Amino acid sequence: MTNFHVLVIGAGIGGLALTQGLRQAGVRVTVFERTRSRTDWLQGYRIHINPAGSRALHDCLPPEAWQRFLDTVSTVGGGFGFVTEHLRDLLRFTEQEITPDAGPADAHHGASRIGLREALLTGLDDEVLHLGAEFERYSIAPDGRVTAHFTDGSAATGDLLVGADGANSRVRGQLLPHARRIDTGVLAIAGKHRLPDSDLPTVLVRDTNMVIPAGRGSLFTSVWHPDRVAPAGDSLPLDTSSAYAIWGFGDATATFPPGVTDLSGDDLQRLVLERTAGWANGLRRLIEGSDPATVNAIRVRSATPVGPWETGPVTLLGDAIHNMTPMAGIGANTALRDADLLRRRLLAADRGDIPLHRAVRDYEEEMRGYGFAAVAQSLRNARMSASGSRAGRYAFRAVLRSVHAVPPLRRRMATGLGS
Ligand SMILES: Cc1cc2nc3c(=O)[nH]c(=O)nc-3n(C[C@H](O)[C@H](O)[C@H](O)COP(=O)(O)OP(=O)(O)OC[C@H]3O[C@@H](n4cnc5c(N)ncnc54)[C@H](O)[C@@H]3O)c2cc1C
Repeated sequence: MTNFHVLVIGAGIGGLALTQGLRQAGVRVTVFERTRSRTDWLQGYRIHINPAGSRALHDCLPPEAWQRFLDTVSTVGGGFGFVTEHLRDLLRFTEQEITPDAGPADAHHGASRIGLREALLTGLDDEVLHLGAEFERYSIAPDGRVTAHFTDGSAATGDLLVGADGANSRVRGQLLPHARRIDTGVLAIAGKHRLPDSDLPTVLVRDTNMVIPAGRGSLFTSVWHPDRVAPAGDSLPLDTSSAYAIWGFGDATATFPPGVTDLSGDDLQRLVLERTAGWANGLRRLIEGSDPATVNAIRVRSATPVGPWETGPVTLLGDAIHNMTPMAGIGANTALRDADLLRRRLLAADRGDIPLHRAVRDYEEEMRGYGFAAVAQSLRNARMSASGSRAGRYAFRAVLRSVHAVPPLRRRMATGLGS
């Protein structure tokens, strides 16, 4: 029997992974989510789960939930390439080079967010999962127990409160009011192009690509290929059954017209086409053929590093502490790593190996290290995508070409990709 009760705020990727991991080990855990239904937070984009994220998911999820995850991921993984704006390869890895002989728990997976969420919710009943519970603030009693207060006036008391409430975390706002998120000065415009489209070049419908042009801007492309059908009677809430390619064009916000984030999808599409005039027809077709309703612009934000704080009965995980730009594709993977690390530390406390306070302190120390390193990496990628330095781009292109030509460098980069 466990002695403590964990309250998790936010049933997102990290919060649910932690909840599943503690629940299957018999630790008392309750997760509170502000949205009302199990299908409320539908975000239709593909998400890339890297080997570290897969391992964490595998270790947190009970076997039936892990199997459900595997049932919804795409088995058509594809490779990864860096190309010029004329779609000439600077460096390309095949799928086999990226994950040689890996089992599913150590592989890269293309997942739909909806499929991932469905897997994470597997087996969680109303006793564990409280929907429509919007966290407002917490209070700590003299005996060290913590109470979460919700906007509807209800409250819940436990021994540890974990803020897994995403980038705009209210838990962080109270625990670390000095923690800041910055506008990186980078703007991304993204859209979706339905497949099949026989006029698109193979690399755009098979692989993930990063376009490094000689001039300004950068373009990321990826593909979602559903190749599994949901089991009969199992209705996934959004249509994940059709294939699509996604793209994201990034550059410095200052190079776009004022009010760009308020433009319609059509106008944004036109803007990206103007900015990519002279690029390969295949790339322009990807942008031009997208449904304008799927095209939107976001100002890219990022957390700034926070130094150590005094450990108490409230902690944070995932975007709530180390929100990062999407430009490295590792935010969710890092949230999963947090969930798994905190789970392992809490289980050690549950067994009586270490006190609960020490478990949380050890988690925070380790998490700050790799979490803010990931923030820095994704910020570097974002700034590089928005850099106007022609010399920097030529140098980067030269490095990629050299890696392509030197097998040991190639192997090292291939196995490190996305992890
Ligand atoms: C376009 C885009 C593409 C991305 N692609 C990738 C990728 O390929 N790979 C990758 O690793 N990462 C990717 N990311 C990043 C990834 O989506 C996030 O890092 C990840 O979702 C963070 O998980 P989380 O559990 O910390 O927070 P979230 O998943 O955001 O969950 C937070 C939860 O808390 C709930 N909540 C918020 N406030 C409250 C409150 N007051 N009370 C109760 N509940 C609350 C929210 O409703 C939500 O359910 C991408 C991000 C974007 C924007």
